[in-house]
Formats: sequence, C-alpha cells, structure tokens
Amino acid sequence: MVSEAVLEAMWLQARLEAPRECVGLLVGRLGRAEAAWPLPNASPRPEVAYEAEPRALVAALRRMDAAGLELVGIYHSHPNGAAWPSPTDRARAYWRVPYVILGLAEGAVRAFMLPEEEEVTLLVDA
Ligand SMILES: [Zn+2]
Repeated sequence: MVSEAVLEAMWLQARLEAPRECVGLLVGRLGRAEAAWPLPNASPRPEVAYEAEPRALVAALRRMDAAGLELVGIYHSHPNGAAWPSPTDRARAYWRVPYVILGLAEGAVRAFMLPEEEEVTLLVDA
C-alpha cells in the first residue's frame, strides 16, 4: 500500500534523475508506505544499474528506526526500460520487502518480491 503522494514523489525523483536510475527507501508502518526517502545512486554505471550509497543507506535506516518506522519497500527506476526486474536486480536483491520499479519509458510501476520475481500488487490510496 502506497499513498498517491508517495507514488508521485517517486515518479518526480525518477524523472529528475533520468537518464540515471534513481533509488530510495519506502518507509512507513504496518506495510503502508508513508514516505519515499531518496538515496544517492553510487553505481559506477548509473544509467543501467543502481546501488544505494552505503553511508546514506545506513543513515536512512538509523533515522527510520529512531522514528519508529519500518522498511516497507525499496524503489528504483528504469529510465529507458519497462518496470520489470533485470537480472542484476534479481541477483542483488537482499531484502525481504517488495522492490518497486518505475519504468519511465513504459510509464508503469510494478512491485516484486526478489529474487523470486513474484509480482506484488501495489495498492494506491489517497
Ligand atoms: Zn532495475
């Protein structure tokens, strides 16, 4: 579950950072994303991959814990592609939360459990 505002924030970041892939955390409570926290993409090939910058990632996770929030998803964009996981996305999926992918060329957003590639319905509320 993600709010309309959080979804819009992810799309905005994805457009601003194109042609580089964007990345960030979805944080919230009870599985509902209340905020999208952008992280720097530290991948050496940011046009085709993402890698959350480690220090920023740790700082965000600490801030999340301190605020009593939980990690409910991880998002990134595919500036020139569709919203389906790449082999690299599957290979580097370490967290047991939905991976949200924004496909800018396709204009679609999908969420998956990885590496299984099981699609998760992304419910959007007000
Ligand atoms: Zn990807």
